Amino acid sequence: MEKSFLIILGYNSSLPFYNHHPTSQILYMKNNFFLIDCGEGTQTQLLKSKIKINKINNIFISHLHGDHYFGLISILSTYQLLRRNTLLTIYSPKGLKEIIKIHLKWSYSNINYPLRFVVLSSTKQKKIYENKNLKVYTLPLKHKIYTNGFIFKEKKNLKKLKIERIKKIKEINIKDYRSIQKGYSFIKKNGSIIPNKYLTYNRVKSLTYAFCSDTKYSPNIVKYLKKVDLLYHETTYLHKYEKLAYKRGHSTSVNAATIAKKSKSKKLIIGHFSNRFTNKSLFKKEAKKIFKNTIIPKTLKKYYI
Ligand SMILES: [Zn+2]
Repeated sequence: MEKSFLIILGYNSSLPFYNHHPTSQILYMKNNFFLIDCGEGTQTQLLKSKIKINKINNIFISHLHGDHYFGLISILSTYQLLRRNTLLTIYSPKGLKEIIKIHLKWSYSNINYPLRFVVLSSTKQKKIYENKNLKVYTLPLKHKIYTNGFIFKEKKNLKKLKIERIKKIKEINIKDYRSIQKGYSFIKKNGSIIPNKYLTYNRVKSLTYAFCSDTKYSPNIVKYLKKVDLLYHETTYLHKYEKLAYKRGHSTSVNAATIAKKSKSKKLIIGHFSNRFTNKSLFKKEAKKIFKNTIIPKTLKKYYI
């Protein structure tokens, strides 16, 4: 299984800008491909990324400003053309289902594959998805309209067995492997204990990715972000516009870096820059003064978590 990674399909803010795309990301985690936000042009960006569209079974939409979901209807239409037949689940604030319905109604189109909407409405953190390998939680944000970020957490990894040692111990059967992988020691019939450490390699650390969509500076979220391996945080404005940013429900480079620092995140990716700033490296310069490990992403590049 490949290590978890993030591909940024677009990180621009709402006004169009040559060669840049509004917010959309693909997260690969434990054999799952999650689409996070879906700004205009996401579909063509996905083609460029070479990620197969059919691998996506869950789409997470942070809020209903157009630069975060205008690309969705085209993806849903493509699935119909490709005769998708597997379940697609969309997590979003209230209203998206109605928007999609109206589109379909007036284009006299149908969606025949199973499509499920999960409506997010809580202002508290909720677990919204879980499978045997990972969990997804909302990250309540403060924007002009109801908005969530999302936190993707791998569950504890199973330990890798030292198989050459295990095979030498006759009492250990294949059915015992699972509990050893989980970290238990092996107890022989005569009561003696073979410590787990002797039978396994060190556990590979479980990873966490946090997507912090549009928000004003909100230190309350730090408690949800403790030591995340990778944090994406919006930085629409440079810090001299701090007051304006706050008023408009957005953050500055210093705000994002402060959240990364306070939460002891390992890495910070910044984005959602306003077009009024032509020199994007200034965002990084400001952020780096507070949080060194700050990156301005390259679109379509693979970032390991
Ligand atoms: Zn917004």
